[in-house]
Amino acid sequence: MLNALTIDVEEYFHPTEVQSTISQSDWDGLPSRVEAQVERILATTENLKVKATFFVLGWVAERHPCVVRAIHAAGHEIGCHSYWHRLVYDLSPEEFRRDTQRAVAAIQDACGATPRVYRAPSYSITSRSLWALEILVEEGFTHDSSIFPVSHDRYGIPGFERHARSVETKSGPLLEVPVATVQVGKTGVVPVGGGGYLRLLPYRYTAAGIRRVNRDERQPACIYFHPWELDPDQPRLPLKPISRLRTYTGLHGMSKKLDCLLRDFRFGTLSEVYPVAAGERKTFEHAVSVGNY
Ligand SMILES: [Zn+2]
Repeated sequence: MLNALTIDVEEYFHPTEVQSTISQSDWDGLPSRVEAQVERILATTENLKVKATFFVLGWVAERHPCVVRAIHAAGHEIGCHSYWHRLVYDLSPEEFRRDTQRAVAAIQDACGATPRVYRAPSYSITSRSLWALEILVEEGFTHDSSIFPVSHDRYGIPGFERHARSVETKSGPLLEVPVATVQVGKTGVVPVGGGGYLRLLPYRYTAAGIRRVNRDERQPACIYFHPWELDPDQPRLPLKPISRLRTYTGLHGMSKKLDCLLRDFRFGTLSEVYPVAAGERKTFEHAVSVGNY
């Protein structure tokens, strides 16, 4: 079973978790780490012959176009992770559209490719911001991977479809690809999708979760992580204790866990795992109407 490997390309000072400490006006003055971090990821994926989808932040594409060019030249898929890393449900639809257009333009300028797959900062397409899906279709996106079907303090739509589905919007369909979760009991859904869950919990937790999705449900799993999660030497920002725990725990063990993950399972890009042929977008059996949520 081919699973989707996705990487949100941002600096260590971009996650929502650190934004109460660091403001946008500080960003340009902080040392950059993203070039070296992405180089390491590209070396690992090349070594293990894995292709992935890199959701690039427009801000990073504008300041480090060589990073985006290197990812593209290595044959990976380029996706969009917004321009400013702002939560979608904090934006107006018009602000969201402008942010998306600016990110797409920065990515195009950097590597010549037009991203067609999108991931919102902190999975911030929730029941409050489902209007964003329609805008993504209008802006030419075919896939979105921004809805986490779990309960969390900052994101998630509990009860949303756990596997990839075509979502109907007023402007047309969009293939929604949720990050991997497992069903616990009748109603419980827990994340196994990588990122903090891979970093904070033992490797066997993620591995068992992916096996369950692949073998028991016969479905691919969509996994994600961030370049900064593989960098134990990144500068430590003055975070509150809970944010410090969520951000800095497990950095040392992450590259070994990632190595195991890439060796134990087969991975490809989002579009490879979930193909949507032009003009024939409704590949998946059950369409979900946005109105249901
Ligand atoms: Zn992000």
